[in-house]
Amino acid sequence: NCFGPGAANELRGRMTDTSEPSMGDKIVSETNQPAGDTTGDVALPVIDHWLGDTRWPGTGERCGDVFDPARGVVAARVRLASAADVDTAVASARRAHGAWSRTSLSKRSTVLFAFREALKRRADDLAMVISDQHGKVRSDAAGELQRGIEVVEFACGIPSMLAGAHTEGASTDIDVTTIRQSVGVTVGITPFNFPAMVPLWMCPVAIACGNAFILKPSERDPGASMILAECWAEAGLPEGVFTVLHGAADVVNALLHHPGVDAVSFVGSTPIARHVYETASVTGMRVQALGGAKNHMIVLPDADMDAAADAAVNAGYGSAGERCMAISVVVAVDPVGDDLVEAIAERTRGIVIGPGSDEASEMGPLVTAMHRDRVRGYIDAAEADGATLVVDGRSCEVSGSPDGYWLGPTLIDDVAAHMSVYTDEVFGPVLCIVRAPSYEAAIELVNTNRYGNGVAIFTRDGGAARRFTAEVEAGMVGVNVAIPVPVAYHSFGGWGESLFGDTHIYGPEGVAFYTRNKVVTTRWADPSTRGTDLGFPTNS
Ligand code: NAD
Repeated sequence: NCFGPGAANELRGRMTDTSEPSMGDKIVSETNQPAGDTTGDVALPVIDHWLGDTRWPGTGERCGDVFDPARGVVAARVRLASAADVDTAVASARRAHGAWSRTSLSKRSTVLFAFREALKRRADDLAMVISDQHGKVRSDAAGELQRGIEVVEFACGIPSMLAGAHTEGASTDIDVTTIRQSVGVTVGITPFNFPAMVPLWMCPVAIACGNAFILKPSERDPGASMILAECWAEAGLPEGVFTVLHGAADVVNALLHHPGVDAVSFVGSTPIARHVYETASVTGMRVQALGGAKNHMIVLPDADMDAAADAAVNAGYGSAGERCMAISVVVAVDPVGDDLVEAIAERTRGIVIGPGSDEASEMGPLVTAMHRDRVRGYIDAAEADGATLVVDGRSCEVSGSPDGYWLGPTLIDDVAAHMSVYTDEVFGPVLCIVRAPSYEAAIELVNTNRYGNGVAIFTRDGGAARRFTAEVEAGMVGVNVAIPVPVAYHSFGGWGESLFGDTHIYGPEGVAFYTRNKVVTTRWADPSTRGTDLGFPTNS
């Protein structure tokens, strides 16, 4: 297996997470699911934490199940940290922070360059473990890694980004210098849907800025995080600067209340993002919390219809719709609806579904059975609400994989704004069509939605596109680009309930988040100018 020697130890008869979920419906931890019929006589690999420069079992008594969604079986177990493990991890990170923050920028960027090379060398291993545990097809897994590597490349240039500012002669004999220093111990809490890319949105920037970083990856597909840890070690990062701590809600909450943690970056669903933001604000941490999404794509009547249909299908069903930037609603502005639906339906029916490991597959399974059933429930509800099922993926079967968590791409027309398939984040291969009588009606729909992550417009009219980019309420806007994920030297983030906090992630805003401003005012004056003066110092 990809977890190295010694990983396939102990296991049978041990440890099932029996902890209660602490928040509403969304928050039911799927690691609580029973292991089912999968263990048999075969010991499963166990995924350890990463502490110092090596794998670490910690002291936790519990493990969570990690599924192979294409086969519908438990394929590995992941250790769930205890409260004592959280203390150990934070103490280790605190010890490492001091020396790392004083390490020269030149040496830090050398480690970043080496990290990039290590990631490239391990790209196949990473794509494989992502695909096996998440379900996405290998090419998609390779794509997310590539986008993550672009953030590492951005972070390689950290010396120029921390150059600061200097003002000579701000006042008589006074110079002023602004420097940016590390924040301390930073924590990243990440979702299941991008097990490599989202951690790479955070850790290269945090570490380049001189912080120690503790990653709490999703417990559903934690394998990639261990390869990231190995890559950091291989790159020469001093031990303790990068830590991986596995766990679910209790571990997140322990980190959020830990006095040794200085900042937390969160990416996940909106209810948890809000919880993380509120908790960390009260405990006095710097926090950025990115939440869920409901991304709309407006198609104006003058758009290139083939390009729009291709984009809707790619952005709607890629990664089985389990992307925060997936298009879930196409707003067809009259009279384009019928032609557009036909073009999308034709493409949707041709999508090849199968295991991520099969090169012929274009779309894999959903991440867990529970999630697949939840998504299917939204299709049932849309049908009951009177929407039109143009393509129905509910009966999807994949030969040779009868127990996989399959759900075919589903296209639903005549969706109305009150239906749950429209109001909620579905996070599956379900594309909704809403018909709008005009541009004004279309943008009002977008701007009244509580989310504001990504949005796109398809048109050949530059004036309409310009008006749209000015008027739309969202953090990331695409013009004839359905998934407008910013390049690494810009920053990523949504508006509304898609982001709680002030800064977007990676890029220049990531550097701002992971550093503190310090302003030094200096006087080396001629001693003859001294004298007492109790007035407030003014500039002269
Ligand atoms: P999630 O919110 O269930 O989990 C995210 C992280 O929070 C995980 O590490 C998990 O262990 C932890 N967590 C879960 N329940 C918790 C609780 N009660 N208290 C504290 N921590 C808890 O999200 P997910 O299902 O893993 O990922 C999918 C979601 O992430 C979708 O909503 C998607 O839109 C969102 N997402 C957003 C972005 C973005 O950039 N805005 C990017 C990727 C994913």
